[in-house]
Amino acid sequence: MNKPLAKDLMKIIEDPCRMIAGNRWGTFFGVSQETLDQVWGQLTSPSGNSIVYISMEIGCDRDVYDPVKDFLQTHDFQEISDPVFNDFAAKFINGPEKIPNYSGGLGILAGDTLKSFADLKIPVAAISLLYRKGYFSQLVDQNLGQISTADQWQPAATPSLYLLQDPDNPGSPLEIEILFYDQHERETLATAQLWLKMEINKDLDFFVPEILLDFCIPSSPESICQVCQRLYDSASEESKATQRRLLGASVRPVMNKLGLTARSIHLNEQHGITVVLHLMAEYLENKLGQDYRTNSSDDDILEAARAVSQQIVYTIHTPVKAGHDRFEHGIVAKIGGAFCLRILHLLALDQDDRSSYNFTKLAMLINRATNSVSRLHKEVTRKQFPEFQKKITAVTNGVHHLTWISEARAAFYDSISEFTGWRENPTVFSRALDLQDNESFRKGLEEAWLKDTRRLTGFIDEMFIDHRISRDETWIDPPNYICLLDDKECRLDPKVFTIGFARRFSAYKRADLIFDNINILADIVVSNNHPVNFIFAGKAHPKDEMGKALIKRILDVQEDLYRKTDGLAKLVFITGYDMKIAKILVSGVHAWLNTPKRPLEASGTSGMKAALNGVPNISTLDGWWAEGYHEGKTGWKFGLESQITSESFGEAKEQLLYEQDAASFYQVLPDILQCFYNPARRGEFMDRAVNNIGLNCPIFNTHRMAAEYIKRYDLELPEDTEEELAILAEAYESDAFTGGGE
Ligand SMILES: *Cc1c(COP(=O)(O)O)cnc(C)c1O
Repeated sequence: MNKPLAKDLMKIIEDPCRMIAGNRWGTFFGVSQETLDQVWGQLTSPSGNSIVYISMEIGCDRDVYDPVKDFLQTHDFQEISDPVFNDFAAKFINGPEKIPNYSGGLGILAGDTLKSFADLKIPVAAISLLYRKGYFSQLVDQNLGQISTADQWQPAATPSLYLLQDPDNPGSPLEIEILFYDQHERETLATAQLWLKMEINKDLDFFVPEILLDFCIPSSPESICQVCQRLYDSASEESKATQRRLLGASVRPVMNKLGLTARSIHLNEQHGITVVLHLMAEYLENKLGQDYRTNSSDDDILEAARAVSQQIVYTIHTPVKAGHDRFEHGIVAKIGGAFCLRILHLLALDQDDRSSYNFTKLAMLINRATNSVSRLHKEVTRKQFPEFQKKITAVTNGVHHLTWISEARAAFYDSISEFTGWRENPTVFSRALDLQDNESFRKGLEEAWLKDTRRLTGFIDEMFIDHRISRDETWIDPPNYICLLDDKECRLDPKVFTIGFARRFSAYKRADLIFDNINILADIVVSNNHPVNFIFAGKAHPKDEMGKALIKRILDVQEDLYRKTDGLAKLVFITGYDMKIAKILVSGVHAWLNTPKRPLEASGTSGMKAALNGVPNISTLDGWWAEGYHEGKTGWKFGLESQITSESFGEAKEQLLYEQDAASFYQVLPDILQCFYNPARRGEFMDRAVNNIGLNCPIFNTHRMAAEYIKRYDLELPEDTEEELAILAEAYESDAFTGGGE
């Protein structure tokens, strides 16, 4: 039913040992030698016709998507006697699934983007850091709230991760060195090993390499090693600044070492912006010779900035203050050279606080394209950075549909002839609109949905069992009131309307909004006699006290809500939110809730994951939802939609509009419950589900997003790739809209 097997895949099925490939950096598994050579050839070609993508975090856990593992599990390789193949295959099937190099939406977007680049065969290499202790592991205690512990993981045991080898020094890892400073501000070298993670496409005939820099090795200064253990370590402003500098300063050494020739660099958020300082230094050295540091005039520096701008594509991801790096001069002076400081002084002085450098300002200044991540976010960004208004455009985010569509939904989509080819071309989902009245289509969707809801309730059952056991063994009280009730009460019924909410816990996302007035909420549930399950999950940054208080608040209302509704409403908190839990949640719930204060959610992506499974959203009209809502055809909106002014950006509790937006939610909730429970209105609920597939699947995927980004790159691509991209891009034009937000 789908496209015939790719040629490479057929050859691999004939001879699976073709999955082993090598070059001077090591031996890799999952693609043929031809593919490895071809991709590496493109990335190192003198033409420079490729992209380097920089991100502080990349989320791509293998338990939600791993085409190599899927391939191994669906074919029989009993007969093969090659020990190298068997070792690799065993590692891919049994090895650890987690690569905890992400904290939330930004990292998962990076991973999803790279997967789509691999699917579309776009020559891209990514660079990020590797964190030996990941982000953090979340334990939650009913009384104490969130407790963070180190994420322990083993890169070497993780399939698809390879420590690159030094060809000139057999048996030793490849290393790069960057100039740094020790605690006495003396020059020193920070050394990193290079790990390669391969993002391989489903036909196993293309991949995107991610180079992950591991600075935590014996030859690096202890201070550097400390700082790089955890993603977004914020022990001090200095450690934050150091992480940023390590990322930015490593880009050119990595490219030089591996021979990557990309003409353009895409910055996923401004974290890696210091790369432009190095590019400018290279430019000036070329122009003025070795003594460029002393010989450059300010005009030379401005000229270098203009030249380097042509190489940078920049995506800004948030209007929230915490998302933008500002560092005091003293901190930057400790970790950067005098010439870098001079450039920063010229280009990056913060307007409000001239004793700080503003890295977002620098990123805004030095690029040839600035992208915001939704239409509304474009208007917001233009308001926040009026001096750059003209160049700010929008490419609305997406998610990797092959990662986020559940197995049960994928099997259902496969059974629909109108959706033939959906894996390659998600625009075919628009045909769902012609199936709106097709009873067997609607029934099939409901059946797949129920499977996913059962999976979710089963997952929660098991979590409760684990929590009860660990309560007896440790001092941690299960973070769920219903967990300790009797057997019947602690089980969730998959037929009960189930609302999901999961994301980072951060003040502006207002996780506790709908519990603002428990009495009103309980009244709605009780007076209609409509049971509801609320399933929440998410981590708060360990230093974010407001975020942690939100988690505690969710735990604190559980019992009250249960009692006031006579057990009709159950509020569950799932611990340890990650990609796997996200996938179970977005496909298993009946509606996906998002409650950010408008307009602080630049895009949001978890709602798109729900939409791709046909799950309606209930959300304030913020971020992507302003585009995905389609006048109510795909879900529900609530909350204030006032004009965007500088006041809109306030994040203090009293500016977060709890009362108004909660009241608005309580107004729409009864109607939502009616749509789900009232047989006469059930059709309206399913209409919204079908409309999500028809209206939102073609748009909110990273294939379409990649197709739009490629227009901002300066790539020359083969004709058939261009045709494929044109079809994807035709589905939408993020930048078309200009009136929003006013
Ligand atoms: C998708 C995802 C996010 C992003 O969620 P938002 O609603 O966009 O904030 C965060 N964490 C995980 C694990 C995800 O899968």
